[in-house]
Amino acid sequence: MKRAVRAVYPGSFDPITNGHIYIAERAAAIFDEVQVSILVNPQKRSMFSVDERHMMAHEALSYLPNVTVDHFEGLLIDYMRQQRSRVIIRGLRAMSDFEYEFQMALMNRQLAPEIETFFIVTDPKYSYLSSSAIRDIFQFGGTVQDMVPPGVFRRMRERFPRHTGT
Ligand code: ADP
Repeated sequence: MKRAVRAVYPGSFDPITNGHIYIAERAAAIFDEVQVSILVNPQKRSMFSVDERHMMAHEALSYLPNVTVDHFEGLLIDYMRQQRSRVIIRGLRAMSDFEYEFQMALMNRQLAPEIETFFIVTDPKYSYLSSSAIRDIFQFGGTVQDMVPPGVFRRMRERFPRHTGT
């Protein structure tokens, strides 16, 4: 019997944006299961806690039946092995992503040759979108409503009730 292929889409997802959702959706059309896995990095200051990020991603992706959300700490390849997954999904926005992603994919291959990284190119309309840009724009009062799922937008407004952005 053919084994189902589970792909892991790792990232910070602080918060999940429409660009991330696009990549998850395309991956879900190819692989049997896609696990969106939030990397817990205690050294990195984040806008949302892991639980909040998890909840927002879960809510935004619930329309995709073969996508689940998880989180992990430590080395991605250790997590991959533990999850018995051999496919890493990453999204590419621009050439500027490429160098970093290329280096990381080669490093991961060096550490775990059995694991493959797959890149999915974004839709041009999301090519400028990143979680850090969303956080900055919102905190300085800009409009992010069209860039994130409704649940994320709602939580951002709850978090910063007095900010001027929409
Ligand atoms: P990291 O924290 O590793 O920089 P993120 O959590 O922001 O990454 O994103 C995880 C993955 O999603 C990365 O592969 C990143 O390139 C990709 N990604 C982020 N934003 C977009 C977007 N707008 N379109 C396509 N891919 C994206």
